[in-house]
Amino acid sequence: MPNFDSFGLAPSLLQAIADLNFEKPTPVQRKVLPMILGGSRDLVALAQTGTGKTAAYGLPLVQMTDQANPAIQAVILCPTRELCMQITKDLAGFAKHTPGVRIVAVYGGAPVREQVWALQRGAHIVVATPGRMNDLLRHRNADLSQVQRVVLDEADEMLNMGFQEELEAILSNVPEDVRKLLFSATMSKAVAAIAGKYMRNPEEVVVGQRNAGSENVSHECYKVHAKDRYPALKRILDFHRNVYGIVFCRTRAETQEVAANLMRDGYNADALHGEMMQEQRDAVMKKFRARELQLLVATDVAARGLDVTHLTHVINYNLPDEPEGYTHRSGRTGRAGKAGTSIVIVNMREEFKLRTIEQIIKKTFIHKTVPTLRNVCESQILGLVERLKGLDTAHPMLDSMLPVVTAALAEMTPDEVLKRFVLLECKRFWDEDKGLSEVTQGDRHQAFEPGARRGNPGDMVTMEINLGRRNRLTPAALITLINRATRGPMVRLGKIRIQEQISSFEAPLEAATDLEASLTRGTFDGRKIGVRIAPGDTITAPHPHAHSRSKGGGHS
Ligand code: ADP
Ligand code: MG
Repeated sequence: MPNFDSFGLAPSLLQAIADLNFEKPTPVQRKVLPMILGGSRDLVALAQTGTGKTAAYGLPLVQMTDQANPAIQAVILCPTRELCMQITKDLAGFAKHTPGVRIVAVYGGAPVREQVWALQRGAHIVVATPGRMNDLLRHRNADLSQVQRVVLDEADEMLNMGFQEELEAILSNVPEDVRKLLFSATMSKAVAAIAGKYMRNPEEVVVGQRNAGSENVSHECYKVHAKDRYPALKRILDFHRNVYGIVFCRTRAETQEVAANLMRDGYNADALHGEMMQEQRDAVMKKFRARELQLLVATDVAARGLDVTHLTHVINYNLPDEPEGYTHRSGRTGRAGKAGTSIVIVNMREEFKLRTIEQIIKKTFIHKTVPTLRNVCESQILGLVERLKGLDTAHPMLDSMLPVVTAALAEMTPDEVLKRFVLLECKRFWDEDKGLSEVTQGDRHQAFEPGARRGNPGDMVTMEINLGRRNRLTPAALITLINRATRGPMVRLGKIRIQEQISSFEAPLEAATDLEASLTRGTFDGRKIGVRIAPGDTITAPHPHAHSRSKGGGHS
């Protein structure tokens, strides 16, 4: 396997690589680095996130800089301010022993004047967001007439964010024969269009499978009622205890709400979204990187491309609008060879989205039930026990203090002390827990114990199923489905209502849980069946014209 020193990199760069503790080039670096350094063609490189794309183009750009020429020779365009700063920092690291190479970052949300000065003082490589670069060009504050190389990093995301016009304006402001290097985790239609329009016969490099998720990431899914999303998130966080991760939300408002709730509930969380003041964003990111902050609640745009290693979890509080977005999110974890988990919280109506994602990531979701209150408490107590076991009891003051404590506890048996120890840790969970609905709740059977749900045997509940006319579901087909799914005594079915996408049927209360469990194991019309007891604990009297059925039979 080639090492970094086989690419013809200058000793100053090899020294910088050694300082960064990069031992071996990553696959994308092995392929792309020599192509950029030794060739002259345009390039489209697709690779998963966290594979080291920055160094793959950054090292050659630093090396190819002509320090004697004060003009801007390379432009790197990337979607966000955070990414812009990150790339600039990475490049500064590569150029650590090549101090003559000047690297300048220009991005929105910061005073333009200082950036203009920085450019005037001299910049060989400019790292820019498209909006700010375009502004600078329009006001003739940046001269790109001598640029030789343009890098489009996270090109798909720049297009997703609506930077197409800016990108096209910039690309038409650089000399026509500029070499274009495009990097992306996914190849969307928009990326292909830009490549087709502005690149000449580019070489294409695909590392790993297109759009494939990282190898080290496992994907888990929790199905909940929409209203249980937040309590489910809390249960998941409490159960896993030491989560260091990003909670992805779809909108700024949702980000703020979830972050505020988590903070109120005592979690070490904060929000990151595009409309925060820049200083605030920087402060939050700094805390998160330093691990002073455990949970970053963020929109896709704000967290895009951020290189924070060792995240244990990525949590999709809500799925992204585009299934491709999931790849980017889950790619935040499982980096640098470490294992990570990507968790998705979905409601019943969103479950179908998982199939599309599974096709893209070429992996299947592990379906999990939301941890019960009991699971959470056990996990917390065991965490505490671990800490207890790890303590060093050799402290000199400890022995002298023991008699006082022993005396104070004299009236209690060790068992009672132990109980209170458990209580001390668990009480807050018991007190705060608002409870989750039956379907969300992991321990489903509990919900059907007498008293947990008002109603008597023989009462009917309405159940919803994620199939309808568009799946060619008919009452007869539904009954056949239920027949096949269940064993044992006859199940009396009530009113059946077939709608376009979702249908419902009435079933006896005592059979509902089993039906739910057995039906959700099957598929219909190529689709995973989702069933739930309709919200609102609908209990109806037995329907007078109830369909009756027995094992293997049709309906009357
Ligand atoms: P990408 O842009 O492909 O998502 P980055 O360029 O941000 O990935 O790199 C991800 C992480 O891997 C960074 O922390 C970077 O410092 C590290 N890294 C890059 N190349 C190497 C290497 N050859 N050996 C070890 N770590 C590396
Ligand atoms: Mg990158």
